[in-house]
Amino acid sequence: MVSTRRVEHQTGLFDSEVVEPHPRTITQLRKAAATCERCPLFENATQTVFGEGPADAPVVFVGEQPGDQEDLQGKPFVGPAGRMFDRALEEAGIDRKRVYVTNAVKHFKFEPRGKRRLHKKPNAYEIDRCRWWLDREITVIEPQLAVALGVTAARGLLSRAVTIARVRGDFIPLRDGVEAFVTVHPSSLLRAPDEAARAQEYAKFVHDMQLIARHVPAIRA
Ligand code: SF4
Repeated sequence: MVSTRRVEHQTGLFDSEVVEPHPRTITQLRKAAATCERCPLFENATQTVFGEGPADAPVVFVGEQPGDQEDLQGKPFVGPAGRMFDRALEEAGIDRKRVYVTNAVKHFKFEPRGKRRLHKKPNAYEIDRCRWWLDREITVIEPQLAVALGVTAARGLLSRAVTIARVRGDFIPLRDGVEAFVTVHPSSLLRAPDEAARAQEYAKFVHDMQLIARHVPAIRA
């Protein structure tokens, strides 16, 4: 029985002292994450939204956190930003079924505003606590490339704060046999101030996806 008790983040005990045994497959990880209480975000969200895709995917895409739709459906990348992401992958000639998609933080953080739930950015503590799951997803899948979509994902993946403009487009050694690539989150394209800016940012994002497809031909459609 895998346990990730609330006491863990209250006491600051090391992971290995309280989480035994370590899950070794994506299915085991997903099951264990469903009851995670490593940070306070589980308290208000509907459910843990774990990653999805082939357990041997050559590329893992890492987003920020589930949005409203993802939280309700329990699936990553199904809201408006997810649809934008799907479109960009298709235009870049990437087969979505050959990649694994997940988030740096696996519970929806939000602020209630009337009947709506407004997205709230995860803080450094929450990202760092949830890295326990992301690390294990990368360890189990052993992808050739892990792609961080936005600053939260970059922090989750690289374990440090980065400026996207400084590293965007680079293939960065991450750990044995795994490289990292950093680009923007597709939701930032939706927030562009006008149609022209949106088109320009979208084209840059598709270009990044094309770089990835050239680097890892196994994910091409
Ligand atoms: S956000 Fe991550 S670390 Fe926090 S409770 Fe959810 S799964 Fe656990």
